[in-house]
Amino acid sequence: MTSPLQQDAANLDALLERAKVESLAHLNALGTLPTKGNYDASPARNQLPELGLGTLRAFDEFNERLRNVIVASSGPRYWGYVIGGTTPASIVGDWLATAFDQCSFATAGQGDISANIELETIQFLRQLFNLPDTFLGGFVSGATMSNFTCLSVARQWAGQQLGADIANEGMVPGITVLSAEPHASAVKSLAMLGFGRNNVTRIKYLDGNREAMDVRDLEAKLQALNGQPAILISSAGTVNTVDFDDMVAIAELKKKYSFWWHVDGAFGGFAACSPAYQHLVAGWEQADSLTIDCHKWLNVPYDSAIFLMQTKHSKLHIETLQPLNSPYLGDLLTNINYQTLVPESSRRLRALPAWFSLMAYGKEGYQTIVETNIRLAQTFGAMLSGSGSFELLAPVRLNTVCFSLTNAEPERVKSFLTALNETGLVFMTPTVYQGRAGIRAAFVNWRTTDADLIVVYGEMVGLVG
Ligand SMILES: *Cc1c(COP(=O)(O)O)cnc(C)c1O
Repeated sequence: MTSPLQQDAANLDALLERAKVESLAHLNALGTLPTKGNYDASPARNQLPELGLGTLRAFDEFNERLRNVIVASSGPRYWGYVIGGTTPASIVGDWLATAFDQCSFATAGQGDISANIELETIQFLRQLFNLPDTFLGGFVSGATMSNFTCLSVARQWAGQQLGADIANEGMVPGITVLSAEPHASAVKSLAMLGFGRNNVTRIKYLDGNREAMDVRDLEAKLQALNGQPAILISSAGTVNTVDFDDMVAIAELKKKYSFWWHVDGAFGGFAACSPAYQHLVAGWEQADSLTIDCHKWLNVPYDSAIFLMQTKHSKLHIETLQPLNSPYLGDLLTNINYQTLVPESSRRLRALPAWFSLMAYGKEGYQTIVETNIRLAQTFGAMLSGSGSFELLAPVRLNTVCFSLTNAEPERVKSFLTALNETGLVFMTPTVYQGRAGIRAAFVNWRTTDADLIVVYGEMVGLVG
């Protein structure tokens, strides 16, 4: 009797072939598969099998029970949240990351070379975003963990200003966190880091339908702190309306006041890929730390994001994230060990999907993806605002359309969106903007085309009646 595991091992070729065939069937159908799931139709299995089924029979059960509830979230008409797709090269890289199953810690020496691949990929990304090599970077599971990583080092910096070593001795009072429109994940990071969710001092917005901070209000608040340390969380792309804080003006304030400047550019940072939009992030190279998501606009599979941190903070960085309090900081930066730079200890070779995609499509390929998505958002915005039934809640500044039904009660906006999502043709998410019920459509998928806009718009006009 051979065990299911031994049988599988002997049959690996057929198993991977099956995985390829099923993957292809999914990817080829992304344009027609529904964007909504139907989990009620699919009862859960309650019992762990006593004897294993083997992979092929597990596959059968997966197809029968689970596959039909998997939605086309990486397809061309999934416009809810900010959900990226997957480039062919990134799928290849992700597959290989699994097959090679490296535990990505340290640069070459006695270990494997996965950290070298990571550093090379970070170098490519710095070049994609026109950022200087004074930034040290690494891969984490998403922008939430990137914000967490950056803000943990910001906390260590602020503690140092107060004569405290927070990573070793614990939290101290007296640190102010400033932001106009922090992403929920940054607020969550503050909860995890001991600042507390409620302890963000809000900076005023600019006047006139803006979510960007009024930098004069920021300056007034910095002045009032009288030298007490502050951490500024700024936005390169807010979620509702993709507004950008004025990075040039913030960089100017850095010369006068002492504060840690973090930029959350999870998806808006990709404005840097386009000569026509890179002015939106001008000045961000002066920031202390940056967050950029890769599973959004880079179109690599989950889970993938990077942090970028100025190397002048590397000592604080390692003090914060090294596993043990090791006074030896000597050559940790020449022989990078990611265990001292990210929250995780063991990680997969998370850089490989991005490496493949950046190699395969280059700077030009990403400029095209970004500019195409921006053009689609603008076209969709123009279709909606020209229709009479819909109105934009904010101008289309980059890749997201924030809109509502004209003269509609919140309940009607909600029921319209439910009906629209129920078609399974498109998925959008609700929002509230300036007190009004709204809907967001975000364009970050390389597969989306003008034909998708026409299909969705036709459906919307039919539903609105
Ligand atoms: C999506 C997003 C995040 C959180 O990213 P995850 O990858 O979901 O962890 C943080 N900030 C901004 C601006 C985002 O758009």
